[in-house]
Amino acid sequence: MTKVIEFKDKVVVVTGAGGIICGCLAKEFAKAGAKVALLDLNETAAQVFVDEIIKEGGVAKAYQANVLSKENLEEVRQQVLKDFGPTDILINGAGGNNPKATTDNEFHELNLPSETKTFFDLDEAGIRFVFDLNYLGTLLPTQVFTQDMLGRTGANIINVSSMNAYTPLTKIPAYSGAKSAISNLTQWLAVHFSKVGIRCNAIAPGFLVTNQNHALLFDETGQPTARANKILTNTPMGRFGEAEELVGSVFFLADESLASFVNGVVLPIDGGFSAYSGV
Ligand code: NAD
Repeated sequence: MTKVIEFKDKVVVVTGAGGIICGCLAKEFAKAGAKVALLDLNETAAQVFVDEIIKEGGVAKAYQANVLSKENLEEVRQQVLKDFGPTDILINGAGGNNPKATTDNEFHELNLPSETKTFFDLDEAGIRFVFDLNYLGTLLPTQVFTQDMLGRTGANIINVSSMNAYTPLTKIPAYSGAKSAISNLTQWLAVHFSKVGIRCNAIAPGFLVTNQNHALLFDETGQPTARANKILTNTPMGRFGEAEELVGSVFFLADESLASFVNGVVLPIDGGFSAYSGV
């Protein structure tokens, strides 16, 4: 079968679209003919991608949006309805970790220096921030934008989970737990909306270099950190992924003619990381 995937005139809402991954997805949806609404807390960051899309002849608009404010999301929904019409595809991309919810060490040990940030020092507000941003920040946009997707052919949601949803990564318990909750919510939504025409799936990207993890992966001289080397050793393909390498899987999940019976899956795109035991 040869098929050119296109999303001509589909309305695609992308949250976190000012970021590297979702900005890239937004651009590719626009190239495939979609009308793309780029939502981000940082409207300026989203506008950079919109400018690129428009320059290439695509249709897109940036919206200042906070995925943690239902009231704000409702306002944005009304604007998107006016600008482009009802949403066909929702990409819940906004998410991330917080240093206050990250331990300094992989393993707790006796007699650590007093300045070490251990599990016992993790900040409650930081943990709450991470759970809110990732979990509520996926649930609230879904509550708001699926209202326009009910009963429409081809409507679907794509959430962004992570490798740490399968097995938690060291140091980041809140982010791991919150992404696990997103995989779980993906299945819940797939079931819940199965009678009203909305599919829900997720991608679980492996390790990509983006704004939020750059400092964890490279030192000031640009050399990979010990953690980055560990990731590379545990990624059988031996390299980081690129945002562009997520596009094919997202298009597949989003395209009704290819994935009309695919519902509730979390698709790893990870160079083999999740398949590898390390031995
Ligand atoms: P990024 O930091 O480049 O982009 C995240 C975007 O979300 C930013 O533009 C930020 O302004 C926006 N944002 C933050 N809080 C928001 C809020 N309250 N409301 C609206 N927008 C908000 O991150 P990225 O690496 O491109 O990550 C995108 C998604 O992919 C996230 O969910 C992340 O957890 C996930 N992910 C990333 C990786 C990776 O290796 N980078 C791996 C797996 C999953």
